[in-house]
Amino acid sequence: MNQLSDSFGRQITYLRLSVTDRCDFRCVYCMAEEMTFVPRKDVLCFEELSLVARAFVELGVEKIRLTGGEPLVRKDIVHAVEKIAAIDGLRELCLSTNASKLRHYAPELKRAGVHRINVSLDSLQPERFKQLTRTGDVATVIDGIDAAIEAGFSGLKINAVVLRGRNDDEILDLVEFARQRAIDISFIEEMPLGAIVEHDRALAFMPSDEIRAVIESRYPLTASEHSTGGPSRYFSMADSPSRVGFISPHSNNFCGACNRVRVTAEGKLLLCLGNEDALDLRAIVRGESDPLPALKAAIIGAMSHKPEKHHFDLDAPVDIVRFMNATGG
Ligand code: SAM
Ligand code: SF4
Repeated sequence: MNQLSDSFGRQITYLRLSVTDRCDFRCVYCMAEEMTFVPRKDVLCFEELSLVARAFVELGVEKIRLTGGEPLVRKDIVHAVEKIAAIDGLRELCLSTNASKLRHYAPELKRAGVHRINVSLDSLQPERFKQLTRTGDVATVIDGIDAAIEAGFSGLKINAVVLRGRNDDEILDLVEFARQRAIDISFIEEMPLGAIVEHDRALAFMPSDEIRAVIESRYPLTASEHSTGGPSRYFSMADSPSRVGFISPHSNNFCGACNRVRVTAEGKLLLCLGNEDALDLRAIVRGESDPLPALKAAIIGAMSHKPEKHHFDLDAPVDIVRFMNATGG
């Protein structure tokens, strides 16, 4: 029985669990060029991560996504996956990655119990990819995606953040890339998380409807009932199994159907992406002799603080100072 519902009657069944705030990329919309990361001693160790995961699953969470930062820069990631995948009652364990290390990890992740993988890919052009990620190599990422397909991951999805004037001319190329591999792709509107100087988020904003119109110039899209329990609205194409999704935090506020909360790498429970309210679960994990019941009670109590919706405003000064890598995207 699910014990997690908020003041607006929403049931919480989905946890995004950040396993690190570190990353080998510095995507221009996600991080500043110079970043200070959380000291390692403050990051939850894998026993602590799995205890937090267990508390949520025992309260009714059915789906967990491991995210970050980049989960695959964490050395003990396979152990963490094994431990979390074995929790009784968990239906789906997913992972978000930039795929830079996926060639190496894909078979182990499959064996350890990951069901679905999302890969970020914003450009297929090597120089542009390097600019957008500041460090990344697109050939390695594409090879990582192909390694995941070879390892037998069927629920694979590409996530692309579209920035006007930077990669909006690649929307159709990215759709072709997904179609060639029979995998899904979602296009994301950039969110104002953390102060950046690299670009003006308001000028770079490209609404989902505009992206959709570009795709429909080649492939008519039909609204699909498909849902992965996340914020993507999906569409199908007549001649391909690939679905196209849109994550539209600005143009189509999805908060009414929000079913998720996040835990940061240092164990802060965030009830909403667009809100700084947090509960320190690490203090409970490290401070209590029998932390599981205390964790569960604290998590139930926190649900009443979940706000009704986010209020992102690209033209206003930055409201949320934490970057997406700290949030657990
Ligand atoms: N490193 C992994 C990756 O890139 O997939 C997992 C963490 S990353 C923070 C998760 C997702 O958040 C990625 O798809 C990324 O594109 C997205 N993201 C990061 N910053 C964002 C922002 N400011 N607005 C919208 N999406 C963002
Ligand atoms: Fe790293 Fe993912 Fe953020 Fe890019 S989006 S900097 S890959 S955490």
